Amino acid sequence: MSSSTQVRIAVGPVRTFLAVVLALAVGIGGVLGYQALASPSSAGGSLLGTLTGGGPGVGVADGVVPDGTTVFDDHVPAVANLDPELLAALRSAAADAGDDAVAFTVNSGWRSPAYQDQLLREAVGEYGSEEEAARWVATADTSAHVSGDGVDVGPMRAMDWLAQHGAGYGLCQIYGNEPWHYELRPEAVDGGCPPMYRDPTEDPRMQD
Ligand SMILES: [Zn+2]
Repeated sequence: MSSSTQVRIAVGPVRTFLAVVLALAVGIGGVLGYQALASPSSAGGSLLGTLTGGGPGVGVADGVVPDGTTVFDDHVPAVANLDPELLAALRSAAADAGDDAVAFTVNSGWRSPAYQDQLLREAVGEYGSEEEAARWVATADTSAHVSGDGVDVGPMRAMDWLAQHGAGYGLCQIYGNEPWHYELRPEAVDGGCPPMYRDPTEDPRMQD
């Protein structure tokens, strides 16, 4: 028996073994590949939720606002579902603010009742009582966000610009404790904005 024969005999079983290992590896790789494909989408979903302030069950369709949204983003429901006159006033103001190199960001706009309910539950958890939470978050029945009549604007420079010029567009800060929350008061164009409530609990609309 030559050495080459011995090698050939040895190679047969080894090749079979390698083929089995390869087949297993391909099979396992297929499974891992499937998981790798599946997990980024689910991780991406929860990451998006974290970034945009949405919790389980609510998303962009409920009014969760993607980072960097502006008053011109028609495809974002939080913007598109605002009262058309409020939106027109915001766009007019934002265009003029742009001339002063001030950009408006929408941090919150229209919200679905489900989203508002979730925010209220979170606020009760955060502030410890429904009474304290009511100073900051309305119910779905009373919220100006759910009706499309309220918008939360940022950043600070935009709030400052609106505090100075907003009345000329009918855009008014409503609550002393919420310098970011604006609503349309058309009479403000001529007469200036009405006095602010200290916080939402003083707003007659919040008594239901
Ligand atoms: Zn608000």
